Amino acid sequence: MSYDDNNIFAKILRSEMPAHKVFEDDETFAFLDIMPRTKGHTLVIPKNPSINMIDIDPDNLCVLIRSVHKLAPLVSKAMGADGFVIQQLNEAAAGQMVFHIHFHIVPRYLGVPMKHAASEKEQDGILSANAKLIRQEIDKQLG
Ligand code: 5GP
Repeated sequence: MSYDDNNIFAKILRSEMPAHKVFEDDETFAFLDIMPRTKGHTLVIPKNPSINMIDIDPDNLCVLIRSVHKLAPLVSKAMGADGFVIQQLNEAAAGQMVFHIHFHIVPRYLGVPMKHAASEKEQDGILSANAKLIRQEIDKQLG
């Protein structure tokens, strides 16, 4: 399979599709999942095109995981979570649905189960409010 420039995350990167952005730097972009498994479920993607772990250049992967490492505790804190899961799926057999590599940051709350993946679209107003809280925490901690 070759990289499809028309995948949904490529469109988000080109601003052809809207997204609730929480962070951006020269090489990475982070935004809320529209079908969150828990409150604050965030996706972190590289700006360079790669399908998944199989084709990504190791240097790009390092850049990407650096952003995940920086953002995950801030997303968790902003949401008042008790912990978080980091998830990254490779190929349809593993559940990959969007073929532009991404890491999931899924905040976890004691006693609250994760919803099934991509099972329920969240209301736009709730996503906007959560994105604002996360951006505020990121601004506070990273400037
Ligand atoms: P995967 O299964 O490929 O690891 O995860 C893809 C994720 O993208 C899913 O969690 C799904 O809810 C999310 N998703 C699918 N379409 C869109 C979209 O248009 N916008 C956003 N923000 N997330 C999406």
